[in-house]
Amino acid sequence: MSSLVLPSRLPRVGTTIFTVMSRLASETGAINLSQGFPDFSPAPQLLERVTHHLHAGANQYAVLAGVLALREAIAEKVGRLYGASYDVGEEVTVTAGATQAIYTAIAACVRPGDEVILFSPAYDSYAPAIELNGGTPVFARLGHPDYRPDFAQLAALLSPRTRMIVLNTPLNPAGTVWTAEDMARLDELLRPTDVLVLSDEVYEHMIYTDGPSAGRHESVARLPGLRERAFVVSSFGKTYHVTGWKIGYCLAPRALMAEFRKAHQFIVFVVNHPMQCALADFMQRYPEFADELPAFYQQRRDALRTQLAGSRLRVLPCHATYFQLLDYSAISDLPDTEFAVWLTKEAGVAAIPVSAFDPVVDPAQTPRVVRLCFAKTDATLVAAGERLRRL
Ligand code: PMP
Ligand code: GLN
Repeated sequence: MSSLVLPSRLPRVGTTIFTVMSRLASETGAINLSQGFPDFSPAPQLLERVTHHLHAGANQYAVLAGVLALREAIAEKVGRLYGASYDVGEEVTVTAGATQAIYTAIAACVRPGDEVILFSPAYDSYAPAIELNGGTPVFARLGHPDYRPDFAQLAALLSPRTRMIVLNTPLNPAGTVWTAEDMARLDELLRPTDVLVLSDEVYEHMIYTDGPSAGRHESVARLPGLRERAFVVSSFGKTYHVTGWKIGYCLAPRALMAEFRKAHQFIVFVVNHPMQCALADFMQRYPEFADELPAFYQQRRDALRTQLAGSRLRVLPCHATYFQLLDYSAISDLPDTEFAVWLTKEAGVAAIPVSAFDPVVDPAQTPRVVRLCFAKTDATLVAAGERLRRL
């Protein structure tokens, strides 16, 4: 037995909550509404394209930036939806999911001593990626229950050491969105600075018409002042119901993308080739697929809400993403992590505690709120609803 002791570079980090809760769901036989993934199949036409490309020879390394046809489809989409022009050769890179895009953007830019501002609740990969690269995460709060950015607080947190701001709209876990006014304020605030922006927009195609942006996604790519300092990240896993494929992309202006690719080539080199070809074909043949996604997921959200009517769980506003926050204070005063474990073991429905997105706040002080994923079939939501209404 080795006596070697390795001082951890991530001393405060354990196993990610998504793995912990999915594992507990599977051990206990609970309905898994914790980790975000659909329990239905992707489009058969997309799967057919994978089979096609596996047999047509796309089995060796793809080119470094990603399959050209896929980069073209991405650039076309971003131009059509957000009026933003990205050069296919130099400003679009296909990544191994959004997670790798986020990590790579941070690794390419953040140096020891740099500060990176995050809005908490923040997706759990951001802070460890910053710390692994020697940076310091600085947290701005998105306060419960509105989860809105506070620009006075953001302005106060900016310092000469701020290298980057990471934002996530639509927001996992709260399903809120940045408005056009929010983006304009960020643009104005950053104009006199050299601060970079990393914009995690993986839920860009899941924004509901009853929210403040009336279904419109405010990408940072829409504003020239933000576009020129931003890495914009998205994920095919979310949009095409294929989270297991781990394919996403990053957009950035030429000079930033050149640095991104220097890191990308040694972090992952290139991404799964046949899947990229299949996605390119599918995007070209079915460009309307993403346009129909909001109506599809709005219906899933409403199906979950119908199931929860008459329960003691209170639904919070959800304008986007495939996550619904629930206030459980009428049922229990347990802190959210303990409640999520109790809910999984005793009620048979697995959920995610929101404090997992909030590394700086004492979990005992966080609101009594958990997150459910509604990217599920009717049968799953009905079965979960029966269990939750008994509480
Ligand atoms: N960012 C956010 C906000 C997410 O919810 C996820 C979820 N998976 C990711 C990034 C990572 O996406 P991917 O699976 O494509 O790495
Ligand atoms: N993004 C997904 C979620 O929030 C999970 C991704 C993961 O398991 N790392 O549930």
